[in-house]
Amino acid sequence: MLASAPVAKRTTESGRAARVIDRLEEAMPEARIELDFRTDLELLVAVILSAQARDVRVNQATPGLFGAFPDAAAYAAADPEDLWPHVRTLGLFRNKARAIVAAARAILAEHGGEVPRTRDALEALPGVGRKTAGVVLVHLGAGHAFPVDTHVGRLARRLGFSGETDPDRVEEDLSALLPAARWGKAHQLLVWHGRRICHARKPDCAGCVVARLCPGATAPSGAAGPSSPRRASRRRARP
Ligand code: SF4
Repeated sequence: MLASAPVAKRTTESGRAARVIDRLEEAMPEARIELDFRTDLELLVAVILSAQARDVRVNQATPGLFGAFPDAAAYAAADPEDLWPHVRTLGLFRNKARAIVAAARAILAEHGGEVPRTRDALEALPGVGRKTAGVVLVHLGAGHAFPVDTHVGRLARRLGFSGETDPDRVEEDLSALLPAARWGKAHQLLVWHGRRICHARKPDCAGCVVARLCPGATAPSGAAGPSSPRRASRRRARP
């Protein structure tokens, strides 16, 4: 009996997670990555640029950048400073320019100029971490991943799916709740929900389609919110 308790809890939480993702999918069937790209390399570059930058700002910068650097060979032949005029409106642009050039050189030297399609090979590229590799994998259709950005991490905690703050641990918790085939879409839906409804400072719980499934939902009175874990944990999630 004792040994089966954690399994039963996990099964219950898996069912709740599936219902949350079902409802978000019904509410936002159009959810998709909001970065503009046409090629695998443009996707990788856009995702690198999107760290700590809004997608809309990245999309304003990339047409000029992609026009000036059409392939890995063009980036590989450049100095990072050559990219600055195109990306200087984005935070950390010097680091990002350096990462893009270094990644392109590795792509050219080790992968024939094509973006690799495995997690290990992506993560081995300079400047490409686990989250970037996961987003690229998912949108290339090359593998399953549940990338955890600031929105996904915040929602995982508010929804009671993870108590962790480390993105890798949050990813482990989320991945255990859903089948691998749903990870990529679930990531996208949580990002969209975080941007549109479950804002960091003031979540719109009254307008949230998963409020009845969320232990962190703000009470109508406003007496307890997502930042009140003790109150939230007492409230039972209902299907
Ligand atoms: S109920 Fe509130 S805290 Fe929970 S997911 Fe919805 S907006 Fe976020």
